[in-house]
Amino acid sequence: MAEQILVTRSSMPEFGEYMDEIQGLWDSHWLTNMGVKHRSLQEELKGFLGVENVELLTNGHMALELTLQAMNLQGEVITTPFTFASTTHAIVRNGLKPVFCDIDPVTYTMDVEKIEGLITDRTCAIMPVHVYGNICDVEEIGRIAHKYELKVIYDAAHAFGESYKGRGIGSFGDASCFSFHATKVFNSIEGGAVCFRDSHLGSALYELKNFGIHGPEEVSAVGANAKMNEFCAAMGLCNLRHVEEEICRRKKAVERYRSHLEGVEGLRLNAVQADVEANYAYFPVVFEEKVFGASRAEVFDRLAENGIGARKYFYPLTNTFSCFHRQYDVNETPVALHISKRVLTLPLYADLSMEDVDHICEIVLACRM
Ligand SMILES: *Cc1c(COP(=O)(O)O)cnc(C)c1O
Repeated sequence: MAEQILVTRSSMPEFGEYMDEIQGLWDSHWLTNMGVKHRSLQEELKGFLGVENVELLTNGHMALELTLQAMNLQGEVITTPFTFASTTHAIVRNGLKPVFCDIDPVTYTMDVEKIEGLITDRTCAIMPVHVYGNICDVEEIGRIAHKYELKVIYDAAHAFGESYKGRGIGSFGDASCFSFHATKVFNSIEGGAVCFRDSHLGSALYELKNFGIHGPEEVSAVGANAKMNEFCAAMGLCNLRHVEEEICRRKKAVERYRSHLEGVEGLRLNAVQADVEANYAYFPVVFEEKVFGASRAEVFDRLAENGIGARKYFYPLTNTFSCFHRQYDVNETPVALHISKRVLTLPLYADLSMEDVDHICEIVLACRM
């Protein structure tokens, strides 16, 4: 096996399919600013995600950032440090204060038992993450938010195509932000979307993604530029036709991983959640060194020596980033700290062969000796 196996590999349609999709752009010369591809992707996603409202954006980060801005929030946002930089940055860049809630040791999503203790009179919202595609306790979070009149914005970057009790995952909370980055289950090269309940949020997002322009002679908000262009929307349209099949192929790879690694002492595999239609976005494994016989670092290095890219995802925690100058106390999220020191996500993508999965597992298990 001479070739490298990276942790992920972007899904792409056949070249010809994409060419057909973009051909019309050479007639219209309409390349961005909510053109036909943008509009048709927006419509298709409503159906696919089972949601009423979708606003497309240039990436998942701007989806988070502009949603917070559109809601006009002030004060503190309860969130999780076990996530990608984007979640915390979106909060801080809006002048809001992140308050870090610890995670559940099984699903790695926000520990709902610990949310209420963090609510103060300054709390305005909760921003949980469906991390690895593991669904948050949306019912309990909804109950808490209702009780304290807080907004809920889900970072759903990992949760594309999932449903809970038959309901599209983007339909929970006030808004859910998806990422269509090249490395995600569904990609539009770069891209993102917000699904939301209140249609007013849609008009606010529409303006904010276009500099806050309200009309030809009126700029009513200090917006950004976060419009999805036509080439990205076209890529999204193509990839959307194949995403269900791709999720099936991911599922096969995950089952193969499980056949080798399930029940191995000292390894903790991702939880299988009841009532969730999963998307098999990631394959995280937690290594308990003393029981397993090798540390996360040793496994990571051994895989790297064999040309296999695993990722320490999510390490470090966002509340330890140097850009925050030790403002936050990492000891307040001990479970997140424990997991982030031990977790490794193994390669997973639709094209990953069964032989590659076997080979990866062989190397992981051989680390014990
Ligand atoms: C990828 C990701 C984002 C950001 O999405 P982009 O499209 O890359 O901007 C936000 N949150 C999480 C958890 C992610 O994994």
